[in-house]
Amino acid sequence: MSVITYLVQNHFWIFAIWVVPMSVIYDLFYLAYTRVAYIFGPTFVKHEEKVKNVQKQVRQWMEEGSKTPMCTARPCWKSISLQTMNYKNRMHKVQINMPDIIHLDEEKRLVRVEPMVSIGQLNDFLISRGWTLPVVPELDDLTIGGLVMGGGIESTSHKYGLFQYICKAFEMITADGSVVWTDKDNDPEYFCAIPFSYGTLGFLTAVDLDIVPYKPYIKLTYEPVYSLDEVVAEFTRVTNDPTVESVEGIMFNLNEGVIMNGVFTDECEPDKLNYLAKWYSPWFYKHVETYLTKRQSGVEYIPTIDFYHRQNKAFFWLMPYIIPFANNVVFRYLFGWSMPPKFSLLKWLRKNLVPKEQNENFVCQDFGYELEKLQDSLKFVDEQTKVYPIWLCPTRHCVPEGLEYLNLFKREAVHVDVGIYGFSPIKGFKPEATQKRMERHAIDTGCYVALYAETQLTRSDFDEMFEFNLRNYDKIRKRMNCEKAFPHVYEKISKLGRS
Ligand SMILES: Cc1cc2nc3c(=O)[nH]c(=O)nc-3n(C[C@H](O)[C@H](O)[C@H](O)COP(=O)(O)OP(=O)(O)OC[C@H]3O[C@@H](n4cnc5c(N)ncnc54)[C@H](O)[C@@H]3O)c2cc1C
Repeated sequence: MSVITYLVQNHFWIFAIWVVPMSVIYDLFYLAYTRVAYIFGPTFVKHEEKVKNVQKQVRQWMEEGSKTPMCTARPCWKSISLQTMNYKNRMHKVQINMPDIIHLDEEKRLVRVEPMVSIGQLNDFLISRGWTLPVVPELDDLTIGGLVMGGGIESTSHKYGLFQYICKAFEMITADGSVVWTDKDNDPEYFCAIPFSYGTLGFLTAVDLDIVPYKPYIKLTYEPVYSLDEVVAEFTRVTNDPTVESVEGIMFNLNEGVIMNGVFTDECEPDKLNYLAKWYSPWFYKHVETYLTKRQSGVEYIPTIDFYHRQNKAFFWLMPYIIPFANNVVFRYLFGWSMPPKFSLLKWLRKNLVPKEQNENFVCQDFGYELEKLQDSLKFVDEQTKVYPIWLCPTRHCVPEGLEYLNLFKREAVHVDVGIYGFSPIKGFKPEATQKRMERHAIDTGCYVALYAETQLTRSDFDEMFEFNLRNYDKIRKRMNCEKAFPHVYEKISKLGRS
């Protein structure tokens, strides 16, 4: 074994630590860009010009004989997804350089943004003006385009639903290069098919998103639980409580976890204030764990902006695999301000340096289980992976009349996103076989797998899992002449489909 291989396998942080200063430079550059953009107006290049540029590329593709389907030119390493998007190499790539916030309409409570705007950038913009999104997915680098096309969820989703439910209209470039604005009234079928289509029904060039007034604090209650019965009872209670505005849970093993519920507020009790995002603050999940070890529930007020960034520093709980000492108190006080490094750069580094076998036991997957089946589902996930911590986040399907296809399923059930991120301690763990078993189990129990991560779904399993939603999707693909222009969603999201 060479010294480099030894270091990669045993001390990956030696390589990862260099990503920290690179990320700081990247962030400074980006900050300068956004500040200048705010001063001189929302765009350097007018949005209309950028749209024309995308149209021109699509028309050029047609003139050249529409030889291969199209996809966005965004390189794989920039995406948060851990999928290998090798399909990009054999497709016609279309540049969508659209990183600007176009317009804030406070009267209609809407913000219009381009797809490359990151959730962190949009958050800062809205909060400084007294607004926020009802659903704020947690990693700052997630893009609006990715969240619309690939789905997004947050601890407020039990109230507002998935990210797609806060989208009011989409501006799309269709297969023939036309530009259309679609909303629930002018074309409900197309409008409903766009979320979760992964860019296979056209290119998104702008989206109107709902906004709500920003409240500066969240009053967060931490409830430690010590048996699976208690977990499910408390989680169900807070999910169904109409006064609760934020619900999530972190399971530290099969029977123990902390269920959190929050209410956004204008005022706080100063002696209970916790500035979670201060550079020296410990990782959020470690802080949550203290309630479990103290065996005591607690209430805190957290600045809402800090709450939105709570999982950033530790990428939920993946950071210990990257820079294991980053939660050490000395490191936090000296270098905590520079964290976290860019997830995309770290992903690139791991992919290119770390031998494949070392990632064999790694699981990064979310399953949407019905709340009513949570207990059995958690037991099943435990049997299959034994990965902890596990994230629990409920979502309701708030389907307005006439828009039933916005839902992945016909059923109205509350689903719980069970996020499994980490290395399995199971000896001889077989990731692909496990994934297949878990996907089969999801189909059999009427649940689903989140498609942003790697999936092993066969085409018939995929059709079975999303049968309801695909009815509308397939219809739209035919109607909008997408067959030649874009791959089928299955060809993009599944490992088998991509190969
Ligand atoms: C560690 C980790 C943490 C995560 N945390 C969260 C979380 O807290 N909350 C949450 O909701 N999700 C989370 N996710 C999942 C995340 O929301 C999805 O992976 C999302 O789709 C990624 O967005 P992205 O900006 O990287 O987009 P990409 O991966 O670049 O894009 C996703 C899809 O959308 C398509 N697309 C993007 N822009 C356009 C466009 N303009 N036109 C047409 N098609 C387009 C792309 O082709 C691609 O198929 C997490 C994922 C990971 C790996």
